[in-house]
Amino acid sequence: MPSTPATDDRGVPLRLDKRLRGLEREHGLGAALEALRRHQVEVGFIRDDLSEVVRHTFRAPDGSGARFSTQFNPARARRFAGAGIQQPPEGVVPVHDRCFLCAENIAWQQQGREIGYPIDGASMPYTAWMNPFPLAVGHAILATDEHQPQHWQEGGIDLATLVEDLLEFAHRLPGWILFYNGVGAGASIEAHLHYHALPRTPGLGPMPIERAADRHREGAVARGLYPMDFAHWRGTHAEVLARARPWLAEWQAHAGAAADATANLMATCAEDVERIDLYFVPRHRRRSRGEGLGGVIGAFETMGEIICSTPEERILIETGQVDYRTIHDLLAHVAVALDD
Ligand SMILES: [Zn+2]
Repeated sequence: MPSTPATDDRGVPLRLDKRLRGLEREHGLGAALEALRRHQVEVGFIRDDLSEVVRHTFRAPDGSGARFSTQFNPARARRFAGAGIQQPPEGVVPVHDRCFLCAENIAWQQQGREIGYPIDGASMPYTAWMNPFPLAVGHAILATDEHQPQHWQEGGIDLATLVEDLLEFAHRLPGWILFYNGVGAGASIEAHLHYHALPRTPGLGPMPIERAADRHREGAVARGLYPMDFAHWRGTHAEVLARARPWLAEWQAHAGAAADATANLMATCAEDVERIDLYFVPRHRRRSRGEGLGGVIGAFETMGEIICSTPEERILIETGQVDYRTIHDLLAHVAVALDD
């Protein structure tokens, strides 16, 4: 094993942490995470520079300007095996079934190369880790320090707190996309609570669900604007929180009380004005996959970009067997109707 520098009790090298803290104070959380990304490339933890990614865009035939896209990202196929070593070294006892998001395991799995950045200010301590299988350059995972379930129905975090934390992160990362995958709705690690934080890829413009939300006028529920019903709130951080909280409590007491109820949640913060957008997409745990293309539909896919990673999918896309309708129907297949 390489020699490890002095660390704090979360395994964070003290000097890196101090430098990142300074960056966050001066330029915001995004600057600290960008410095963490550069460090993780330098030490060889991030090896995927996304140069293999190929994106295709499919426009609606009706000329409305609606569109979906596919992201062919072959490195993603390797993610279920994890990025690190499988067997702990002599004398090291793995915790929580070798969970990939527990700092104690990360230290031996990644042989000290993966460094986290502690994030304070949410309902509990979180640590940002770089995703070794990114969907965009700088893709970070924000995981709780404590090992606790991803699903709000399983006795860990409650839905209201989950949304508060998501909005807190979005607010501190203007220009980024924050999202949460419910269990059965794209979460690949179900035993440890985490969110995704994704810097926008330059030049891509709004995600398809964001274009649909621009046409959403009244109430929380956006219906008929997108292949999936979704709830959407726009306003200041405080306004979105105040409006979303009672609506979500109501949902949870009715449709959301079903054992199979799950969801995707996304939040974004504008860079120029104080404007937060929060999206809630209800899902069903036994309908996690679309048909014909891609694997599990997670939050990022519900926003309108389907991740593909197998050669077969690449052939489907490049031989014209995928079009706007294919992706529309894929999303419609996993959609759950929302009442007002
Ligand atoms: Zn864990």
